[in-house]
Amino acid sequence: MTTTPPENGQPADGLRGYVYIIGAGPGDPELLTLKADRVLHESDVILYDDLVPASLLERYGAQKIYTGKRKDSHHFEQEAINEEIVRHALQGRTVARLKGGDPFVFGRGGEEIDVLRQHGIRYEIVPGITAAYGASAYTEIPLTMRKLSSSVAFCTGHPVNKIQVPDADTLVYYMVASTVHEVLDAVVSKGRAEDTRVAVVQNATRYNQKVFTGTIGEFRRREKAVYSPALLIIGDNISQFIDQNWYSRKKKVLLTGGGESLYDPREYVTVHVPCRPVGDADRELVRKAIEGIGGYTVLFFPDRFSVKFFLRYLFGSGRDVRHLSGCRIFAGSKAASLELHHSGVNAELYEGLESGGQKATGEKKITGGEILMPCSDHGDASLVASLTALGNRVMPLAVYMQGVQEQEERIDLGFIDEIRFSSPSCVRNFGTLYPSISAAITVSTADEQTRAEYRRVFGA
Ligand code: SAH
Repeated sequence: MTTTPPENGQPADGLRGYVYIIGAGPGDPELLTLKADRVLHESDVILYDDLVPASLLERYGAQKIYTGKRKDSHHFEQEAINEEIVRHALQGRTVARLKGGDPFVFGRGGEEIDVLRQHGIRYEIVPGITAAYGASAYTEIPLTMRKLSSSVAFCTGHPVNKIQVPDADTLVYYMVASTVHEVLDAVVSKGRAEDTRVAVVQNATRYNQKVFTGTIGEFRRREKAVYSPALLIIGDNISQFIDQNWYSRKKKVLLTGGGESLYDPREYVTVHVPCRPVGDADRELVRKAIEGIGGYTVLFFPDRFSVKFFLRYLFGSGRDVRHLSGCRIFAGSKAASLELHHSGVNAELYEGLESGGQKATGEKKITGGEILMPCSDHGDASLVASLTALGNRVMPLAVYMQGVQEQEERIDLGFIDEIRFSSPSCVRNFGTLYPSISAAITVSTADEQTRAEYRRVFGA
């Protein structure tokens, strides 16, 4: 069998790693392809851009490196990104280069593969749903439509002195944050009528999606505004009813922990306060706790994320659930129990915990136990206290952090219809990030204690 050498004549080399250039889609994490999901699971490192949703990254065990250009954080130039991809690949790693939308639509994917070719590094490209498709579907603007529009063009509104106006029925402009007026001027000077309909779609497919509509003339008379990230769509296939589209009609619920199953996805969009792995120091503690698991008689998982993250570290250490066989395993919530079940563990469930804490643990009589409790960095002090009062020794172990990362956008509560708090500690954690909650938002709580904590923290 003969193999064709790479174009630059370098020999194939097992140590040259493998790079996936992947489109993450426009924002809704469910708009990722199955293939992207598989290769992200297989990757050792994920280099991700702005516009890649944080809730999507959480699922993967790989090391994550932010390579975006957001203000106030390290600014990566394209060249530095290229070097970073090459550096990881040359260490023999599987690298996921994750970009918003599709990598080949205003995504600079072409430049990145040039560099990979030069280094003889093998790669694949996994397409993503580009912002135009996301915006189109989530606002009910068909990009083509019989009789109204038989062609569509994707253009850029940047740089402003190079705006092109192709001869297509529907025009979609990317990168128009501050250049909507200039684009519309260019479109009119190409002879497009002032009463042609226009839509600006901001944060397409995200909980905070917003649509502005009007005609070219109306937009040109409005004051200049900055929309980001946003697309400008121009064409006769934009109906006047798109403000009332299927996506905007759904209620947006913010979950501080579990509870997703309570909300029918046909009626609700659920938004999660993001979780992320703990820092290095805590990871060392987790490693030690896993090694010393023989010193504990009980493993107590208060919530779903504690299960997910703990098992991730367990598997990462080359072990599996057999390593836990010396402990009784308890789940503090149905979600935690379900998560354990998926990994082949039938835990004992504290049904009462979600609606009565102390009483339930008392009823189940864990006494004299050496309890290891994987939890968030904001562990539940009242739960620890009640188990301790029953004569147990409880060792809380932070396996994940809940809260907003520096580089992450804050959740815009202006778009949220309901917030669900799943434990008192979630309320306290949330209160440090968001000191007040508007009266227009419905607040629901998992149990009475959480409701009491909500009243205490928010004075409501
Ligand atoms: N490769 C990406 C585009 C990157 S350029 C893709 O295929 O979608 C960045 C521009 O994409 C932004 O300025 C904005 O115009 C557009 N964009 C990306 N995500 C968006 C979103 N969720 N809503 C609206 N516009 C978005």
